[in-house]
Amino acid sequence: MSRLIIVSNRLPLNISIDNNDLIISPSSGGLATGMSSVHNKSGSLWIGWSGIEEEKIDHKTNEKINSQLIKENCASVNLSRSDVEDFYYGLSNKTLWPLFHYFTEFSTFDNNQWESYKKVNQKFADVVISKLSDGDRVWIHDYQLMLLPSMIRKMNPNVTIGFFLHIPFPSYEIFRIFPWREDLLNGVLGSDLIGFHTYDYERHFMSSVKRLLRLNINFNQIDFNDRNITVDTFPMGIDYDKFWNAAQNHDKLKNNQVSDLQKQLNLHIDSSPSNKLILSIDRLDYTKGIVNRIKAFEIFLETYPQYKEKVRLVMLAVPSRSDVPQYKILKRQTDEIVGRVNGKFSTVNWTPIWYFYRSMSFNNLIDLYTSSDIAMITPVRDGMNLVAKEYVSTRIFKKGVLILSEMAGASQEMNEAILVNPNDLNLLANSIKKAVEMPIDEQITRNSILQKRLKRYSVHKWANDFMNSLIKTENEVDSIKSVSVGVKEHIKIISNFKKATNKLLFFDYDGTLVDFNINPDLAIPSKKILRYLEKLSETSNTHIVINSGRDERFLDKHFGDLNISLIAEHGYKVKLKDENEWSKNGIIKNEWMNHILPLLEGFIDRTPGSFIEKKEASIAWHYRKSPPELAEKRVVELNTLLSSLISDELHIHNGKKILEVKNSRINKGFAASKLVEKNHDFIFAVGDDITDEYLFEELPERSFTIKVGSKNTCAKYNIANIKKVHEMVKDFL
Ligand code: UDP
Repeated sequence: MSRLIIVSNRLPLNISIDNNDLIISPSSGGLATGMSSVHNKSGSLWIGWSGIEEEKIDHKTNEKINSQLIKENCASVNLSRSDVEDFYYGLSNKTLWPLFHYFTEFSTFDNNQWESYKKVNQKFADVVISKLSDGDRVWIHDYQLMLLPSMIRKMNPNVTIGFFLHIPFPSYEIFRIFPWREDLLNGVLGSDLIGFHTYDYERHFMSSVKRLLRLNINFNQIDFNDRNITVDTFPMGIDYDKFWNAAQNHDKLKNNQVSDLQKQLNLHIDSSPSNKLILSIDRLDYTKGIVNRIKAFEIFLETYPQYKEKVRLVMLAVPSRSDVPQYKILKRQTDEIVGRVNGKFSTVNWTPIWYFYRSMSFNNLIDLYTSSDIAMITPVRDGMNLVAKEYVSTRIFKKGVLILSEMAGASQEMNEAILVNPNDLNLLANSIKKAVEMPIDEQITRNSILQKRLKRYSVHKWANDFMNSLIKTENEVDSIKSVSVGVKEHIKIISNFKKATNKLLFFDYDGTLVDFNINPDLAIPSKKILRYLEKLSETSNTHIVINSGRDERFLDKHFGDLNISLIAEHGYKVKLKDENEWSKNGIIKNEWMNHILPLLEGFIDRTPGSFIEKKEASIAWHYRKSPPELAEKRVVELNTLLSSLISDELHIHNGKKILEVKNSRINKGFAASKLVEKNHDFIFAVGDDITDEYLFEELPERSFTIKVGSKNTCAKYNIANIKKVHEMVKDFL
């Protein structure tokens, strides 16, 4: 039976050692609670770091931890002190975290830390591989493990892998700053499914993939080597019922049952019915906009003095990553500004800010949530923000106002909150006034809509949706009929070639024999492949054909010396072996080019990096060098324009970074089929482009047809890459 393996930097448990006793308690973060529904239900295994550096545990304790973890269906990855320093505090939290949250000025780029990041990701991969059985699926979480998908894929190519990023994926302009950006993207692309909280993060990711790796993208699918990768948006929800029920239970508590914190909160609430509490809860992180929030509260009290001694800010800042210098500075800044504002507005009976620097138990969190009239959650950048959702789910009487930053992923689903730009302090101050004065009816209306949505898209649904999409990627693979060329298939094709007496072999050129180049004139055949082809052409009864979209000049230049046949311009012109002349495949009228050419020239002007290639029977507009998003837009424009202009005789072909207009009677299959003879007992065709599909379709059933780099094809086989094609040609010899 297939099992799910969940992998995250930390396990969903807190482990501590007290007098040689192990204390294990569940951890309360969003990821832990979110995934626990999947973990408990499916009998999955969770792999992660225990939180204790390996130097701090002796062999015996380690054994003890491991046997405890087995009971919890967990397995640990051991990290040393230097791993934690360089991988966790270093590259993860001094580089990726600030960069992905647009704090470029805080990002440091340290080669040692990058080496450690790679090393620790490999440690995770080794543990995953050691636990993996056939049919298991792997779901990897977050920015600490971005290299892990491809590391696992390398060691076990057939495993199904999902990756979810819990923080924002930044715009290309920010991501490109990262020195090892291609490695990071290639790492994530080991997955079958990649998930983000919002569509914007997905869009940014796709943009970086397109620009940096220049991969083909079709809607939300990435064509990568011989695999199709799906990228999608899954906004993470919360355990709605847990918070709702906790708030209900809290409401039923008798006076003698309430916590000390609640008693303190009641002092404020009971002193006057018009008093208001504003709640602020975050980890103490520079992304959370804590200082701005306090400044805005200060402006609010200054601008609207009628609310002094009435509106109080209760601020919970949870200690976080306190070993990283920026967090130490933030702690000092926060202490200072809280002190300043309290000093400025405090009276004998009243302090405007109640500030807690610690983490709180779940019950205390519920005290805070249920007692607050307003929650003010204004991060300057936040992947999702679960606190905002948790606050709304505790509104059992539907009263309460959420002020939410539009920079939090959660804002995309929480339009009914008061959405604010967290950098606009005056706006923030006014939003507090708006919240304080919001009529009850309006609060009820807004919360009702929000709650309905939060209840429906709970964390369980989030996890299920992701898992279902992951399983779907397996079905997509199953629906593909072409067979991947492995060792067995390779041997079969070679032995059929050797047995045959009359052989015909078609080779596409670009993307099959030669890699793409930004400049097509520089994509020339290597001496090695020319030597192979030459030798192959000398084998008796072997007819080799280069079947390309290139023009006769180019093909003559590079293959003219070989005794092989050449088909140029997707079948328009043919030069048979043993002949010196090119002949046309039918007489084609080309007047249409005079009309299309000026139109395309207009597009060159507006699309930097693009250029036109005029062939005898077609015109191609190349955009490999252009900015991908711009080019994509232009392709749609040009397609629409051309489709409205051309007749049935012409055909628009969308190739790999090329848009070509040509006569519809010309195609690679039409030209090639004329060369097929009855006595050919080995027919072989290999190509990577959509134009090669015509050839695969046209050839007799007995042919060995092979698509390069993609499994989606009408060819019988698919092969991973050009290198494999070369290996096959070599083995024919
Ligand atoms: N939280 C907690 N103890 C605290 C304060 C907060 O367990 O003392 C929880 C809170 O309920 C929420 C999570 O921590 O589920 C914070 O998640 P969020 O997405 O808001 O921020 P993150 O810390 O992941 O950036």
